[in-house]
Amino acid sequence: MSQPTNALFSRIWADYLKPHSAVMAVAFTFMVIEGSTLAALSWMLKPLFDRVFVGGDTGAIWWVGGAIFSLFLIRAFTSVINRTLLARVSQAVAARMQTDLLGHIMRLDAQFFQTNPPGALLERIQGDTMAVQDIWRVFITGAGRDIVSLIALFAVALAIDPRWTAIALVGAPLLILPTLLVQRYIRRKMRDTRVRASDRATRIDEVLHGIQTVRLNRIEDYQQARFAAIVDKIRDSETRIAGIGAVVPALIDVVTGLGFVGVLWLGGAEVTAGERTVGDFMAFFTALSLAFQPLRRLGALAGSWQIAAASLERIYGIFDTRATVLSGARAEAPDSTEIRLDDVHLSYGDHPVLNGLSFTAEPGQTTALVGPSGAGKSTVFNLLTRMIDPRSGQVTLGGVDLRDYDLATLRDQFSVVSQEPALFDETLRDNITLGNPAEPEALARALRTAHVSDFAERLPHGLASRAGPRGSALSGGQRQRIAIARAVLRDAPILLLDEATSALDAASERLVQAALDDLSQDRTTLVIAHRLSTVRAADKIVVIEAGRVAEQGSHDQLMAKDGAYAALVRLQFGARE
Ligand code: ADP
Repeated sequence: MSQPTNALFSRIWADYLKPHSAVMAVAFTFMVIEGSTLAALSWMLKPLFDRVFVGGDTGAIWWVGGAIFSLFLIRAFTSVINRTLLARVSQAVAARMQTDLLGHIMRLDAQFFQTNPPGALLERIQGDTMAVQDIWRVFITGAGRDIVSLIALFAVALAIDPRWTAIALVGAPLLILPTLLVQRYIRRKMRDTRVRASDRATRIDEVLHGIQTVRLNRIEDYQQARFAAIVDKIRDSETRIAGIGAVVPALIDVVTGLGFVGVLWLGGAEVTAGERTVGDFMAFFTALSLAFQPLRRLGALAGSWQIAAASLERIYGIFDTRATVLSGARAEAPDSTEIRLDDVHLSYGDHPVLNGLSFTAEPGQTTALVGPSGAGKSTVFNLLTRMIDPRSGQVTLGGVDLRDYDLATLRDQFSVVSQEPALFDETLRDNITLGNPAEPEALARALRTAHVSDFAERLPHGLASRAGPRGSALSGGQRQRIAIARAVLRDAPILLLDEATSALDAASERLVQAALDDLSQDRTTLVIAHRLSTVRAADKIVVIEAGRVAEQGSHDQLMAKDGAYAALVRLQFGARE
C-alpha cells in the first residue's frame, strides 16, 4: 500500500503531467514574475520613505507611485494567466485519470469485483481523483510564486541588512520537527479517511439499489444509523486533519512574530541612533510582512501533498491491479462450436465450486444443465466466457483451449441471456444495439423474434422510450425480452441461456419462452433449465451436483435409470407439470 512519496511523484509525472509540461512551464514563468513583484514592492518602499517622506522630494512621489501601480498591474495580469493555465492542467489530468481508471477497472476480473464493491470504486474514480486534481495547482503555485516570492523577499532583506535577516530567521529551525510529525499524521489519518469514504459510497450505493427492500422491511432507521456511524468517523478525521494541518502555519506565525520583535528591537535602536534610515527599516519590515503569507502557504503545502498522496496511493493501487484472465493470441473464430470440459476444478477464493467437471456440448444441439441450486451451473457459464479461469483441467471450444483465444474473439462466440439482464438507463433501441450500428432489417427481426415489438409499440415513445435506472421502467419479462433481442442481433454461434424462474407471469413467460425457442434454433445452446419442457426437448441433459456430473443422457434414458435426474424431476419440476 505504502509507496514512497517521490516514487508516486515520478509516476504521476511520467503518466499524466509530462504532456502538459509546456503549459506548466509557461505558468511557472508567470508565477515567477508574479512572485517577484512582492519583493519589488518592498524595495520601492525604501525610496518612498527616504526620498519622499524623509527627504521631502515631492517629485519622486510620481515615479514611485507609478512604479508601485505598475507592479500591481503585473500581478493582476499574471495571476489571471496562471490560474487559467493551471486550471486547464488540473482539469485535464483529472479527466484523463478518471477515464483511464474506469477503462482499467472494466477490464479487471470477477475476482476484483468480488472484493471491491461498486460504491467503493465510484469513490476512487471520483473522490480520489478530485483529491489529487488540485495538488498541481497548489504545487506549482507553491513552487513558482511562493518560493520565488520568498527568495526575492529575502534577497531584499539581505541586501538591506544581513544581521537583521539572521535575527528574523532565528526561530525557523523550530519548525522542522513539527512539520515532519504533522505530515506523517496527516498521511496516516487520510488513508483511513479515504477508506471510510469508500465505505460511505458503498452504503449509499447499496441502500439506493436496495431501496425497495429497505422500505418493505422498514430498515430506514437501521440503514441511517449505519450510515451515520461512517459519516461521523469521517467528520472526526477530517476535523482532526484540518486542525493538525493548521499547526504548521500557526507555528510559522509564532516564529515570524519572534523575528519581528527581534528586528524591531535591534533595527529600531539603530534607526533612532541614526545609523540606518527609516526607508531601510520600512523596506525590511515590509519584505518580512510580505513573506508571511507565502510562508504560511508553503507550510500548509506538505499537508496538502500528504492528502493527495493518500489518494494517489489508492489510484495507483488500482492501476497496479492486473487482470488474471489474460487474452490469448488466436484471433480466428473456432472451427466448430463443440464445447468440452475436461476434469475442471474451480474455486472462488478457497471455496471449491467445480470438482472435476467433465462433459461435452455438441455443436448445433441443446444441452440442458440441471441440478440443485449452488451446484455450479452458472459457474459453467462464467467459465466459458472466461469471466473466471479454472484452477485445473481444460475447457476447449472447437478443440482449442479457451485460454488460447483472443478474449474478444472468444466472447464474440457467445450470447448470454441471464435471468437478471443488465439494462442501462438509455433508450430501448440503445439497450438492444448496445452502441453497435444495426441494419434496420436485422433490428426489426430481433424485435420480432424477441417479442419486443409487442410491448414497445404500446409505449409512448416506442423504441425511443428509456429503460429507467437498471431497466426499472420495464417489467421483468420485458427486460428479458430486451436481452433476448440483444442476443438475436448479436447472432453469436453459441447461446448461453439461464431460464427465467419465477419472476414472470404466465403470459410473459410464454412470450419469453417462444422468443428463446426461436433464438436457440440451429445454435449450440447451453441452457440452465428450470422448466421440465426445456429439459425434455434438450438433446442432452447434464445433471450437475456439487460441481461434478452426476448423470447425463436424454430425458428418457435418465428417467429409465431412475437416479439423480428422476429424483430431481420429481422434486424440482414435479409441481410444475
Ligand atoms: P448454480 O448456478 O448451480 O445455482 P453457481 O454456479 O451460481 O450455482 O454457484 C456455485 C457455488 O459457487 C455456490 O456455492 C455459490 O455460493 C458459489 N459462488 C458463485 N459465485 C460466487 C462468487 N462470485 N464468489 C464466491 N462464491 C460464489
